[in-house]
Amino acid sequence: MTNAQNLIGGAWVGEPIIERRNPANPDDVVAIAPSASAADVHDAVAAATDAQPGWAALTAVQRGAILMDAADLLRRRHEEIATDLTREEGKTRAEAMGEVRRAIDVLRFFGSAGWRPSGETLPSTMPNTSVHTRREPLGVVGLVTPWNFPIAIPAWKMAPALVSGNAVVIKPAELTPLSINHLATALIDAGLPAGVLNVVHGSGSLAGDALVRHQEVAAVSFTGSTGVGMAIRDVVNARNARVQLEMGGKNAYLVLDDADVEAAAATVAAGAFSLTGQACTATSRVYVTPGVREVFVKALREKAGAVKSGNGLDPGTTMGPVVSDAQLAKDVTAIHAAVEAGFDAGEVTEPKGQFLAPVVFSGVPHDHPLVTREVFGPVVGVIDVADYQEGLNLVNDSPYGLTAGICTRDLGKAYDFAARVRVGVVKINRPTTGLDLNVPFGGVRDSSTNTFREQGERAVDFYTWTKSVYIGHDL
Ligand code: NAP
Ligand code: MG
Repeated sequence: MTNAQNLIGGAWVGEPIIERRNPANPDDVVAIAPSASAADVHDAVAAATDAQPGWAALTAVQRGAILMDAADLLRRRHEEIATDLTREEGKTRAEAMGEVRRAIDVLRFFGSAGWRPSGETLPSTMPNTSVHTRREPLGVVGLVTPWNFPIAIPAWKMAPALVSGNAVVIKPAELTPLSINHLATALIDAGLPAGVLNVVHGSGSLAGDALVRHQEVAAVSFTGSTGVGMAIRDVVNARNARVQLEMGGKNAYLVLDDADVEAAAATVAAGAFSLTGQACTATSRVYVTPGVREVFVKALREKAGAVKSGNGLDPGTTMGPVVSDAQLAKDVTAIHAAVEAGFDAGEVTEPKGQFLAPVVFSGVPHDHPLVTREVFGPVVGVIDVADYQEGLNLVNDSPYGLTAGICTRDLGKAYDFAARVRVGVVKINRPTTGLDLNVPFGGVRDSSTNTFREQGERAVDFYTWTKSVYIGHDL
């Protein structure tokens, strides 16, 4: 067991109060974290406010070097951190190794941004005048993050914020205090000055709320559920600060008659059942045209049946436990409602403790809650459509717009889908999950504020503002 303390002004502080137990093994107390009060959050923001000008005064190369060194330290601790991540969140060790790897690469990518061009040089209409733009940091930024990628999401928000010269206060998810502390420790050990990064553990309604309301917090970047995100947006907009939200999804797949059915089933299964279905990009509704319907459902159920649900630390496990009792109740409620509605599911087994078997329902109407509401578990609804056009229409008929995919060998339909589907990320013959860190990421409609994108070089846009400088050189 580890004390996962708050990090405020360079000191690890806070009384251990909130216990986190391993979802695969409740006897394993993974970490005990403090429950930050509004006063603690104010201390963290004050520390960040004090530290930020000195941090911004360093060169981008110096700031980037600290991110690079932190990446090296994480790489050295890769195995240990991945084990803790599995104990804390439940995902399989392979998934956890991949997630820690992602955090390392993100730090390297944005660390090296310190060497890359920043701002532009522009022509001027005025003689003997040159014009350039500068990217200025915002000041103190607040980050609020979910439990499902407890090290990668904090890394992909923090790294562009820090390299741009901002100081950070982060409120991580209550369920996962340990992963974020591994990341913060690496940054501190790499030489990040005290106060530049602050971590406040605790509940969203208390610590998170105090952070997003704080007048000194110039911007809030949030990843989590749509309901919480929309409420945060209103609070932050009301004080005219900048806000970025990446939220829920109900990600669709369209499988056409010409698809390789075996490959389509493998693609959908990877998107639906990896990470126990607890990915914002997880596939959860699948539209199928008549020619492949039966054979696709059979193939997908075979993939579901082959999933080995268990402790993520066991080498044979391919799907870890559900993260919490609350999430399990949500999954089970959705499954029972679909069974009661009479949808075909092959065989449905009750969960054993936190371990759930994936379920594929077929013949589900498009307007059923299984198709319209995010479950965040390994549960798929298959919906029959007449043809490509109806499929596209129904894929687009959702309040969400994060990711969507299509399995087809018809290049014309694939291109048409890419152009007309209303989501932030489109996958052709690839799972809806699985993203590259150098590619812009974000959704549209109820999945996102759809203003600034995360990841990739342009991720720094959210954390900076543009200043235009005119220099006359004839005096
Ligand atoms: P959540 O319940 O919305 O929580 C996200 C974060 O917000 C947590 O740190 C939470 O703290 C905090 N929070 C809760 N209420 C708050 C408030 N009133 N003020 C400030 N902060 C508050 O989401 P989750 O259950 O952790 O994660 C699952 C959701 O995240 C799913 O909907 C999923 O789709 C979404 N997600 C989206 C993306 C994406 O990039 N689009 C990526 C991953 C996950 P507590 O932990 O204490 O509740
Ligand atoms: Mg929550």
